Amino acid sequence: SQALVIRHLSKTYANGFQALQGIDLTVEEGDFFALLGPNGAGKSTTLGIVSSLINKTEGQIEVCGIDIDKDFATAKRQLGVVPQEFNFNQFEKVLDIVVTQGGFYGMPLAQARSRAEHYLKALGLWDKRHQASRMLSGGMKRRLMIARALVHQPKLLILDEPTAGVDIELRRSMWDFMREINAQGTTIILTTHYLEEAESLCRNIAIIDQGKIIKNSSMKSLLQEL
Ligand code: ADP
Ligand code: ADP
Repeated sequence: SQALVIRHLSKTYANGFQALQGIDLTVEEGDFFALLGPNGAGKSTTLGIVSSLINKTEGQIEVCGIDIDKDFATAKRQLGVVPQEFNFNQFEKVLDIVVTQGGFYGMPLAQARSRAEHYLKALGLWDKRHQASRMLSGGMKRRLMIARALVHQPKLLILDEPTAGVDIELRRSMWDFMREINAQGTTIILTTHYLEEAESLCRNIAIIDQGKIIKNSSMKSLLQEL
C-alpha cells in the first residue's frame, strides 16, 4: 500500500505566484524517497501542503490511504514532520519539548518520557536534555525536531532538508539514524540539496522544477542516466 498519494496538486500563493502546477506523486510504504530540485522549485510547498502547514489550491492528498481533507486528525497521527524552520519554544527544555509532543498525541506520561529518552539518546541529545533549546547548535536543533517528530512513531516521516548546515561527520551519523528508522519500517521522504545524500539514502526519487515533476524513477536508474 501507499504511504503517500498526491493527485493533481496545485498551489497559487496569495500574491498570484503559481508554485505548483498539477503534481502527481506516489510513495510506497517502506520507501526512502527523495524530493530533489533547485531552490524555489516547490519542494517545501509540496511537503508543507502534505503536512497541512500550507493550504492547497487544488488536488488531493492521501496519507496511508486517508484523505487529509476528510480525516486530517487520523492522517496526522501517521505523519511526523520536520520543517526547515525551527518551530519549537526556544525557552523550553529539550526533554520537555519531546515529552510535551507525546502529550499532544494523548500518550501516557510514562510512555512519552520513555520514547523521548529513546529518541534523544539515539540522536545524541540525551546529555542536553535539561538545556533550554535555544542553547543548542543548529545541528542539534535539527535533531531535536527529528526526535519530536518521532515520539508518536509515525508511519511516514517527512524531513525538509534535515542535514542543512550540518558538518559532514554529523551528517553521516544522521544518515545512519535515518537508515535505521527506515529499516524499522518508517517510510521517509526527504528533500535535500546534496545529491550524494539522496544517492546514499534513497531508493526512489522525484525531481521537481518550477512546480512540475520532471523526473520520477528509482535512484538506480537515475544514476545510470547521468
Ligand atoms: P497561504 O496561501 O498558504 O495562506 P500566503 O500566500 O498567505 O500563504 O503567504 C503566507 C505568507 O508568506 C505571507 O505573509 C506572505 O507575505 C509570505 N510570502 C510572500 N512571498 C513569499 C515568498 N516568496 N517566500 C516565502 N514567503 C512569502
Ligand atoms: P523549494 O522548497 O523547492 O526551495 P518552495 O516550495 O519553498 O521551493 O517555493 C516555491 C516557490 O514559491 C518559490 O518561488 C517561492 O519563492 C514561492 N513561495 C513560497 N512561499 C510563498 C508564499 N508564501 N507566497 C508567495 N510565494 C511563495
